[in-house]
Amino acid sequence: MDQVNQKEEKTAHFSGTGGAVYCFGVPREIRNQLKLHLSYTYEISPITSFQEIRQIDATRTTSGRVALVGWNRTITRRVNFLLSTFRRFAPDIPVCLWCATDFPDEIPAHFLAEQFVDYICPTSHPAHISATLVSLMRRALQMQKIRQQCESLADSSARDSLTALYNHAKILRELDREFRRALRSGSHLSCLMVDIDHFKALNDTYGHRFGDYVLQELSSLLTEEVRSTDIVGRYGGEEFLLILPDCELCGATSLAEKIRTAVENRCFKDHGIEALITVSIGVASTSVGNVATAEQLLRDSDRALYFAKESGRNRVANAHEHSSLSDFEVFRQQRALADSSTPVVAIYSSDNTLIERLVQVAEADKFVVLIFNKPREFLSAFEALIPDLALIDAELVGKGADFLRQFSARLHMRRIAVGVIIEGGAPEVAQTRPKGADFVLPRSADGSAMREILRFALNTSFLERELIRLRQEKSLTQHRLEYKEKLAAVGEAVSTLLSQLPLVTETTGHGALAQGANASEECQTLLTQQLAKLAVVTAQSKHRQAVQLSTLVRRAIREFELGGTWGFSPLSNTIVEQEIPSDIEIFAYETDLITALIELIANAVEAMPYGGKLRLIAEREAFHVLLRIIDTGVGIPAQNLHKIYAPYYSTHAERKALGLGIPIANAIVREHQGMLTFDSVLGKGTIATIRLPVWCTDNELTLKWHITNP
Ligand code: GH3
Ligand code: MG
Ligand code: MG
Repeated sequence: MDQVNQKEEKTAHFSGTGGAVYCFGVPREIRNQLKLHLSYTYEISPITSFQEIRQIDATRTTSGRVALVGWNRTITRRVNFLLSTFRRFAPDIPVCLWCATDFPDEIPAHFLAEQFVDYICPTSHPAHISATLVSLMRRALQMQKIRQQCESLADSSARDSLTALYNHAKILRELDREFRRALRSGSHLSCLMVDIDHFKALNDTYGHRFGDYVLQELSSLLTEEVRSTDIVGRYGGEEFLLILPDCELCGATSLAEKIRTAVENRCFKDHGIEALITVSIGVASTSVGNVATAEQLLRDSDRALYFAKESGRNRVANAHEHSSLSDFEVFRQQRALADSSTPVVAIYSSDNTLIERLVQVAEADKFVVLIFNKPREFLSAFEALIPDLALIDAELVGKGADFLRQFSARLHMRRIAVGVIIEGGAPEVAQTRPKGADFVLPRSADGSAMREILRFALNTSFLERELIRLRQEKSLTQHRLEYKEKLAAVGEAVSTLLSQLPLVTETTGHGALAQGANASEECQTLLTQQLAKLAVVTAQSKHRQAVQLSTLVRRAIREFELGGTWGFSPLSNTIVEQEIPSDIEIFAYETDLITALIELIANAVEAMPYGGKLRLIAEREAFHVLLRIIDTGVGIPAQNLHKIYAPYYSTHAERKALGLGIPIANAIVREHQGMLTFDSVLGKGTIATIRLPVWCTDNELTLKWHITNP
């Protein structure tokens, strides 16, 4: 080290495609040797020079980096300073201390203990130094990768998979953090609880897929509407929580109103389906009242949301003033007065003469009339009271055919018949029914014509609703029937399987197998040893294994009866594992197999039509067992066959969850050195074949499955 000229030499480093080596206080001669070694052996090449530590690009993360610091006794203080600066400035770059000394006692081991350096290299041999540098560099790279993976894992576990927004747990953590921050800084914090109105009806009408699409679109809309410092999360199914730092009640309310209007005016379109939705929003803020905790703020926004819903939906309410209930109380009382079979007609018009005549008709025919001349109130009435018929004055909605469409789309979703009041008096005008209307009422029709039209419309509306109710009931019954049929098929199939597959066999069975196997002597000996071992274990667990299988089957059937996704999807699979009591002596292998098997049965049953058949066949080959699950299902199109082996999440992402369950079965079967194949004919069904080895030759007890002759 004596020849080291610190001043001159502290400013050079190697860098190149494979990595960078920063040298401090390393003599040129050694550096040149290192350069040669690194480039020939490890392909880490050129050099650039630098003046001080700050020239190292601390943010560069693409290649491995390492620092080599020369040390000798005389410059300990200087190195000490250098290392502490380096550690602060570039904490992720590993440091190798080079101290070629003939006296081991001199080696400054405290640098290691204090974690100032990662390695001390006590030799001047370039091969040794460069190998050390490369090893440190690679380790640093690995650490960097692991850190990145951890970060991305932490991020994905905090996000909701459908909308990519923060999930329930994460958004609550954020609320807590922001609340504490606001307390510290003396600023105000507000939050909005946004809930989609009648989302269940939307799902029922257009299906869950469309529902999911709406949730995704709404998430984007919410994210677009807020400031970059605001935080958006999916609080629950169709509920979103928005955290607004540095925002008072007034600002939060106007943002809520902006969001409400934006949603109201957005048409949600997907795969040919179009729908309009509305949201109700509850606002809470620390700027009003005495909000002591984050939970209280959350509760306030929830309570406000409740008021928004109660007072008619598609509106914003805050927890501090909620008087808007009263308007609707009036109508509610009216509705309560009328007995439940009395029809209610809501009219949206400002034509007083017409209204008077309609009221007369209503009185004579004993139905209740509610009159509105503001669109929002009119629509709200349908939330709070659910009238049977809506009458819209075309005059009021004016030329805006869009407006009418908006009205009728919402009302139809609530299964309410819509009539439009139009000009003219003759019944022929009924021919010119505007789009979105179920019937028309000519403005100058006389009393009796008006009465007939309304009566007819009310009757039709009642009948249609009755029809829908009956249809729903019928499909429910049919559903139950199909379930029953399928259940019977599973029961039958499983009991056949149980009788065909004595999971544990008698010793004679093994003997026959060993002879029939025509195996080499070595194999035979091994097999006999294994069989002897198995005989002992299985004798103890024979009964329990059978119980285990039937428990699993019963569980599958129970889930099926409950109408859940029965079988063992990636999610329910974990539940089953938890349910296996640990004190039962079962081979994990066999339990896995049973799980896989049931999963395949479950998939087959899912695919079976009403009255379908499911057969399970077990056959023995010389060294294999063949299990066939044959369903009379719809079959899998050839182009989709590969997808059923794909992981669930990948097929789910493109909204075709074909991979459901199969990958697990496949993985488990492969673990047993078996094979899973599918033969499928469109319109006929699918045969899933599992081929399992009866034994294999490692030293563990591996006889997994044995069948006596059926
Ligand atoms: P309200 O106006 O009172 O809020 O009525 P609602 O129907 O929106 O509220 P409710 O709480 O009765 O129903 C919420 C529905 O949201 C029930 C559930 O089926 C649906 N839902 C929850 N999560 C999801 C999801 O991830 N996707 C889809 N498509 N629907 C969901
Ligand atoms: Mg809702
Ligand atoms: Mg809800």
